[in-house]
Amino acid sequence: MPVSTSHRFNFNIGEFVTLSVLLKRPTSTGGIEENLVNRAYSIASSPTRDFIDLTIKEEKPYGYINPITGKSDAFAAYFNQQVKVGDKITVKSNLVKQHFLWKVAAGIEKNVAYWSGANGAQSARSLIQYMEDKKDPDFNLVLFYSNTKLYTDNGNSDIKQGEHQPVDSLNVIYYNWLINIAKKLENLKVIFTFTREQEMPTAAPNDARIIYRKGRFFLNPDGSPERTLFKYGRNVETSFNPICGSSAFINGIVRLPNGKINRGKGILQNLIEIEGIKPEKTDKEQFYLEQVGAKQ
Ligand SMILES: Cc1cc2nc3c(=O)[nH]c(=O)nc-3n(C[C@H](O)[C@H](O)[C@H](O)COP(=O)(O)OP(=O)(O)OC[C@H]3O[C@@H](n4cnc5c(N)ncnc54)[C@H](O)[C@@H]3O)c2cc1C
Repeated sequence: MPVSTSHRFNFNIGEFVTLSVLLKRPTSTGGIEENLVNRAYSIASSPTRDFIDLTIKEEKPYGYINPITGKSDAFAAYFNQQVKVGDKITVKSNLVKQHFLWKVAAGIEKNVAYWSGANGAQSARSLIQYMEDKKDPDFNLVLFYSNTKLYTDNGNSDIKQGEHQPVDSLNVIYYNWLINIAKKLENLKVIFTFTREQEMPTAAPNDARIIYRKGRFFLNPDGSPERTLFKYGRNVETSFNPICGSSAFINGIVRLPNGKINRGKGILQNLIEIEGIKPEKTDKEQFYLEQVGAKQ
């Protein structure tokens, strides 16, 4: 998203903008309604760069109708379909003083272990670009990045790792970009975990800062607790742990099909209970409340 100098606003790593867009969406009676719809998006580029990049992931499928309201209430799928290059949209900055990376932006925390769900690495990308530009040798980032699978199924479950696969079936946001940038930045390490992957990607010998593991963070294959931060991180005591993703990823909170809220455990509790991290060494950015049974 190019920003003309006259409309430029200042921002810090970890901040987000709100998009307001007029979208045409279906109703259960076969009609179409046009409404102004707002959604928050983390800025995925560094304040040191000339462009504001946003990465918008569709959660609700195109055409999904909310059973209670009888209308579509999604944004992302309609935005991606209806907004074209050259269209003008309203982008509002949110200058929250104590956003989840404010201590990193202020230079108070420099040893960062960033925990990202499948949708949650946008601010990490902003931070990585910032580290690339600032070249501060004291900055260190370990990105813990959890996804279900590396590739979407594409209806072909026989595809083996290493065989040709269509590029557009990659399921991990920034996957190739992260692998390339980790080769360049000595103070960046990326730990990919795949919770439903059978075949694991193998890191090339020169990819010392890319690590692949299977299953949930904080869980060994035999079900016993794993000290994931201790195993892959850098100095547990000083590490600052921002967590970004859905409520399920952050603290195990999900909305059940009957509307009730179920409270489990997520990365936040694991960090405190398994690693002994102090709550003030954590922060979180929740993208949305996870609905059980919503994922297709
Ligand atoms: C501060 C902040 C920053 C954010 N930054 C980003 C960002 O950088 N990039 C990004 O992509 N998103 C970001 N989000 C989330 C974003 O605002 C949208 O929620 C997201 O793009 C999904 O939009 P949507 O229209 O598809 O779904 P929404 O209408 O926003 O709904 C999301 C809800 O849909 C549920 N859902 C998922 N699948 C289904 C299904 N099959 N059927 C029914 N319900 C379902 C989910 O469980 C979730 O509760 C951010 C949110 C916040 C609060």
